Amino acid sequence: MIPEALLARVPDRRRCIVSLCYDDALPCHHEMVAPLLETHGLRATFYTHLQSRFLPDVDRWRGVAAAGHELGNHTVFHPCQDQKWLDRTHNLRHYTPRRWCDEVQLANAVLQTVDGCTRRTFGNTCHDNRVGEGEGVVLIETLAPNYFIAARGEHTRRAVDFSSLNWFNLGNRVIDGASFAELSTELSALAQAGGWILYTMHGVGPRDHELHIAVDQHRRLIEWLAAHDDAVWVAPVRTVAETLQPSADTRALSGAATSSDRDGCARG
Ligand SMILES: [Zn+2]
Repeated sequence: MIPEALLARVPDRRRCIVSLCYDDALPCHHEMVAPLLETHGLRATFYTHLQSRFLPDVDRWRGVAAAGHELGNHTVFHPCQDQKWLDRTHNLRHYTPRRWCDEVQLANAVLQTVDGCTRRTFGNTCHDNRVGEGEGVVLIETLAPNYFIAARGEHTRRAVDFSSLNWFNLGNRVIDGASFAELSTELSALAQAGGWILYTMHGVGPRDHELHIAVDQHRRLIEWLAAHDDAVWVAPVRTVAETLQPSADTRALSGAATSSDRDGCARG
């Protein structure tokens, strides 16, 4: 349920908000997903880490940003904790807070050269919210406010909890492998009750990532969202954060150039 004070800021006071998040800068995102969304008048957040296909495909990504999607920060090297595919160099247990901050600040600077935006959100890699280990653990949600206007945070498998709203650990639900039937049931219930859910996916179809949602199930989800535009507001995480947080427009972020545009994006 979205509190009345925040609901008053939502376009047309729609009581249900959905943010679609696509992770890891996969080719299917700019080849197929972004154009599909645009056909239906929808925009999403693409959490792009730099050590990926992002830089080789940067001209395509510039086009995605110009179409109104958010390029979210997903670090440079995609550090996580304890994944079996992860080199120990990039295990967040071995990071210091300074190293994490340097890395996301560099990623912000590179993303700004692509989209011209000084404000964006952070997509926690592998949903991890901790840097370091033992007594040296620091929560990413305490570092992120210096660089972002919001962070997706941990995998809570549910909608944002407005009773204990934490803009730097919003919580999200992964829908890799999900069926349209389960998603439409869930979204109908959310539209009834009111709320904001962040859906996280990797691939759309099996080509680009082991973790993926099937092409047809994804297409049906997008068509459902477009058809329920009167009840459901679909928007990038940045757009929702800027709309609901009165301070997001003006807060000074470390390393960000100033901009007078509402969304902090200089567009030529
Ligand atoms: Zn990722």
